[in-house]
Amino acid sequence: MSRELVLNVGFMVDGVDLNLHEKSTITVDPGGFTIISSGWSTSGVKLENVIALPPLFNAHIHVGDYAFPEIGIELSLPELVAEPHGLKHRMLKSTPRDRLVESIRRLFDYLVSIGVLGVADFREGGVDGLLIGLEASKNKPLNYFPLARPTSISREELLTLKEKAYGLGLSTPIRYKVNELRLMASLFSDKVKGAHVAEVPDNALKEFMLALEELKADYIVHGTHLGLRELEQLAERGIGLILCPRANSWFGVGVPRVDLVVKLDVLAALGTDNAGWVKPDLWRELEYTWNLIRLKGLRDIDPRKILAMATINPLRIFKVEAKYLVDGGEASFILIDGYSSNIVYAHNKIAGIVKRGGGEHVLAVFFKGKCVYGSLCDKIQG
Ligand SMILES: [Zn+2]
Repeated sequence: MSRELVLNVGFMVDGVDLNLHEKSTITVDPGGFTIISSGWSTSGVKLENVIALPPLFNAHIHVGDYAFPEIGIELSLPELVAEPHGLKHRMLKSTPRDRLVESIRRLFDYLVSIGVLGVADFREGGVDGLLIGLEASKNKPLNYFPLARPTSISREELLTLKEKAYGLGLSTPIRYKVNELRLMASLFSDKVKGAHVAEVPDNALKEFMLALEELKADYIVHGTHLGLRELEQLAERGIGLILCPRANSWFGVGVPRVDLVVKLDVLAALGTDNAGWVKPDLWRELEYTWNLIRLKGLRDIDPRKILAMATINPLRIFKVEAKYLVDGGEASFILIDGYSSNIVYAHNKIAGIVKRGGGEHVLAVFFKGKCVYGSLCDKIQG
């Protein structure tokens, strides 16, 4: 792109504290950064009922099982996903590699189309699995963060994974010996490390302890069966908690105490988990998460705390430095239709975004200065 684009938007949610600004001008410069000013410019396109938002970030997904959706819906969670004989792992082994890559590429296209530009993927299958994810993400307009899972604890495999992956994502710390967890902690000391923890009640506290004390986890996933004391520890130590309440509900394992997570200000993010059984629609996750909080009787909360779980909190958890919709930030953001979604009429527009947002309202998706998806791209880019 050789010239700057000037967008006069009706509303903008900035990417630092998710404050709502009325009438903003977003100038996308040719270098792929934004200049933000309040009020409208006399030049550029007018987008009156349009809301600019930081891109969404799906903080926990397994992209591999998108190739065989809804298989084994009658099975229990262990029958489906336990390693190495769960149905999912048998399917991953028997599905041709090019079919896996093709289905993951389609999944990435879907994610971009709904405004998800950050994807933290739990990559099964050691080095081979990691290479499949990396190949599928080639030339896709999103930031891909593959979190690797070793198949053996050989130094060689761990070093290869470290070189090619963004970090570590273990199925559960209890699969490993303490000295193996310590080896991973030290080899990956400069990468992000985490694991599924307390998804089911069995061994929940043991998993929690091993993840924090031996793996030195930067984040844990699920925490469905953690109580007040453990959530307090996460908050005190600044460890990320990635929640997947729709997946937890589908698999029937319970739901996390999101009300406590919010009250304690745990650094929390949202993920959609297994793409084969849960539609990877982060908008649905936003609404569902708020419903769970309300079910616990907690009404007085700032909806920015929920929106943060799908936008800015994952950036902190995964140590991503980019900032969006701030002056000088990276020009990656989304434009949603505030009219068709009814959000421009909402008395609390951030609440409206959490409850009424959806892929069907996405008009344009910008990634690093380019409009990469949406009906508005032609109008904007002239
Ligand atoms: Zn998972």
